[in-house]
Amino acid sequence: MVAMSGPRDVAECLHKLIPPTNQWTPVDTALHAPKTFFRDYKKAQDYMFPALRHTFKHHYDNNFLYHRVCEVNGVTPDEIASKKDVQKIPLLPDAFFKDYPDGKGFLNWLKTIFSGSLPKPMFKTENPSHDEIIEEFNKKGTSIMFTSGTSGRFSFIPRDTRSWNRVKYSAMKSVIELMDYNPTDEVILLIPDPRQTNLTIASLFGIAYDLYDPVNVHVALDMKITTQFLRMQRDETIGLSEKLKAKALSTISPLVQRNSDIKVIHLLEQIEKTGKRVNLAGPPFWLDRILDRMKKEGKSVRLPTSQILTGGGWKAEENKRLPEDSFREKITEFLGIPQERYHDVYAMSECSSVFLSCEGHYKHIPPVVVPLVLDEDLNQLEYEQVGRFAFLDPLPDSYPGFIITGDRVKILEHCPKCQREGPVLDVEVTRMPGFEGRGCAAVMAELMKQDGEEHTSFPVG
Ligand SMILES: [Zn+2]
Repeated sequence: MVAMSGPRDVAECLHKLIPPTNQWTPVDTALHAPKTFFRDYKKAQDYMFPALRHTFKHHYDNNFLYHRVCEVNGVTPDEIASKKDVQKIPLLPDAFFKDYPDGKGFLNWLKTIFSGSLPKPMFKTENPSHDEIIEEFNKKGTSIMFTSGTSGRFSFIPRDTRSWNRVKYSAMKSVIELMDYNPTDEVILLIPDPRQTNLTIASLFGIAYDLYDPVNVHVALDMKITTQFLRMQRDETIGLSEKLKAKALSTISPLVQRNSDIKVIHLLEQIEKTGKRVNLAGPPFWLDRILDRMKKEGKSVRLPTSQILTGGGWKAEENKRLPEDSFREKITEFLGIPQERYHDVYAMSECSSVFLSCEGHYKHIPPVVVPLVLDEDLNQLEYEQVGRFAFLDPLPDSYPGFIITGDRVKILEHCPKCQREGPVLDVEVTRMPGFEGRGCAAVMAELMKQDGEEHTSFPVG
């Protein structure tokens, strides 16, 4: 999933993700034709209607479940004739991707949510585990990315190579246009090794291997995170001996965490000495833990030209969330990184684009996704109104990217802080009441929970 050769410049790292022009569909045109995402937003958006119409027809024709949803809603591709018709495109709740049967039925379920024909890997047993399925599909070029909410149920999003390359391309454009990008920078990833897991958050941060020279990318935690590992960690195993075994195997021990954090602090000190720049990226709770350790040990570094990129969100208990501005102050205090060099990203497993904040901390929405804010009856709201976030994402070929989330957002028509074009998400994104905490950082936070310790902060992503 991760490329091993480093880029020498911006054009090169993007170029290898672009298919030959004679293979372009209107979706490739929408993604690759615009020179920039945020300097000519309107022009980039002009490519979106043909892309959405093309993708809608593709999923209508090739996705068994989505076809049924369209039938129920009485919508056919013929009805998507002009720009205003895109609001007729039926939306799927994000829960769609966790509505799978356990056991044997899983593989069949995967077929029904996949648009087109799923590769047919050979399995050793009749009833392969989720991890065996993920591994065999990886070999066939389809990555089944997973995440899980606080309920412990996984979401599985299948992506073929083309759909995953589009995710990478879109995310890389956002990084290049919204951050101070230099391919020779050092990178520290506060995640499990992205080359060893299909956990969405790790795969997304793993795009660093495409943007930067892999020899300069350092991973905080060198371990393989499978669905079984996470399930055992959640105590979903049966029987006492299984439980004991699971406990011993599945939580990342405080010692491993501590060693990992000390390694990261040591790296930061080395980077300060050499005067290099580093991009420190990972979920905020992880970074916060490192800052707390630095505080405890009376340490701090000055890295004024380095950058921070957090993603995956904070805590299920929203009231315990450290407000972003206090967190930024803490970063400046212990790392000497100025606030305008702190970026946060809002990303969802189901969406091919990420919403990355600018130096003014507003999250810019790329022109290759149509953002929607809905009221309780799923009617579309205006800019500045708070509601439930939904989006039309034409980029995935392998599943329909027309999705309603459980996130509560406000969208502004323009960024109040910078001159880049296009709408932005307001600084804080929260969960709708009654919706479980979102997955990615929650999964990792649970991995690090310590036995016998009162646990009050469950981050969600
Ligand atoms: Zn901005």
